[in-house]
Amino acid sequence: MSEPTPSTPEINGPQPGIQFEIQKPELIYAAVKNGASGKLAHALLESPLKEIELDLAGEAGSFDLIGEISFARDPADLDMGNQAHNAMNRIVQSLKSEGNEVLERGGSFIVPGERGTQLVISHEFPLDRLFVSTGKMRDMISRYVQVVPSPDSQEDTFNSALADTTDLIRKIADGSYEAKGKVTPDQKVIIGPPKRSFGESENNNPDSLIGKIEIEKPSVTFEDIGGQDEAKREIEGLAYALSHPDMYKKWGTKPPKGILLYGPPGTGKTLMAKALASQADARFFHVKASDIGSKWYGESEQLVQQIFDAASSNGKTIIYFDEIDSISPNREGQHEATQRVIGTLLQNIDGMDANDNVLIVASTNRMQHVDPAMLRPGRLDRLVEVGLPEKEGREQIFKVHMGKASQIADRELFSDVDLERIAAQTDELSGADIAEIIRRTLEEKVRLEGRGTEPSLVSTQDILKELESYERVVKSRKKDQASSSAYL
Ligand code: ADP
Repeated sequence: MSEPTPSTPEINGPQPGIQFEIQKPELIYAAVKNGASGKLAHALLESPLKEIELDLAGEAGSFDLIGEISFARDPADLDMGNQAHNAMNRIVQSLKSEGNEVLERGGSFIVPGERGTQLVISHEFPLDRLFVSTGKMRDMISRYVQVVPSPDSQEDTFNSALADTTDLIRKIADGSYEAKGKVTPDQKVIIGPPKRSFGESENNNPDSLIGKIEIEKPSVTFEDIGGQDEAKREIEGLAYALSHPDMYKKWGTKPPKGILLYGPPGTGKTLMAKALASQADARFFHVKASDIGSKWYGESEQLVQQIFDAASSNGKTIIYFDEIDSISPNREGQHEATQRVIGTLLQNIDGMDANDNVLIVASTNRMQHVDPAMLRPGRLDRLVEVGLPEKEGREQIFKVHMGKASQIADRELFSDVDLERIAAQTDELSGADIAEIIRRTLEEKVRLEGRGTEPSLVSTQDILKELESYERVVKSRKKDQASSSAYL
């Protein structure tokens, strides 16, 4: 790689094409020193070039820079990912022609850089994005790259990484214009310090998330979940990922970073994620993914960033993304902002260390709408099905909810209930349906008592009666779903 000049902020001197203006390099450096890193950094460059902002965030002592370049999509270009792929090839050609050593690793290209840093170029398919990172690298999972904080945080390492990045941005821009038969116009690209402060950042403080997401320390246990034996076994095992990551290392493997629970609504996915948090003694960040795209519209990226910042600096945390399919590029009416939210999300997941105290659990009941980029190795790569319960599972779910009600009342509320008979008649109902049937049955007792009678304990007949009226509700719900499925 061309020799960087570590101490001068004006990297690459005046040349035609792009001029880089590094604003307040001391602040960029201070931000890095105080806890920012390329882990979450992204330089977002839209074509044609306007301004590039290098945003640095993340873990203390890290010196990596990551550039993420999104290409403006030509609607006629159906071959998504093509521009990024072509740009990557052009960059590699140009680096080779300058005599750089370029190594290929699983579809990514690595250029050994200064002082042990490496420059990594990879592109993401099918999203038209090109990832560029500079810094020390510990691990690679196929073409996805995990950039690891550099333990020896020195100013010169930082400057050389910065120089590598600007060098590359220039090459990408030149290649991009050249492909269109044009010469890169003279323009200025500004690289500045992050807009928010680090170190004492309030971003790391979970209080800053109050009112935006739910934060709790759940007390739900796996015993509160009826049925779902296989899913429970699988998820319960993952509690070790947070409580004993060392155990994975002992057996030469790594804990997962993310899990995706999929299955119909009301089957206990959220319950399971909470039980995992309580088993691992972790905090639970409940993020409603649909809110991210709507309620926090315009602030969504920052919110995602804030969530990860707060999670990674405050002990064991499970980040639960409910309805992850609602942040998907495939959805109709998707906005460029959605792409950026996905970018921020993926960058944070990629930047996570599998041994961090953070585990991501996402859920969906529309698997086909989940962005495939999220399911790649090293991301949400553990898929766990949480389906509708079988007969035996339904019996257990009835038991759980009946037990809970009796516990609250501090007396036995049920008399000789024939659970097998009831379970046999509740085919296709979810755990949430069962909880609702029990709730309605008990409510009926309250009503009777309100009328001045002394109701008897709940019997099989009482539950079957509620079941009958509830089934009418389910039927009309199914009809609604069928007529709205065209829009899903
Ligand atoms: P999901 O996240 O799959 O949509 P939830 O976990 O939010 O479903 O479930 C909603 C409610 O339904 C729970 O709070 C619980 O009362 C009940 N429920 C669902 N599945 C089960 C289950 N397997 N065991 C006990 N209760 C369940």
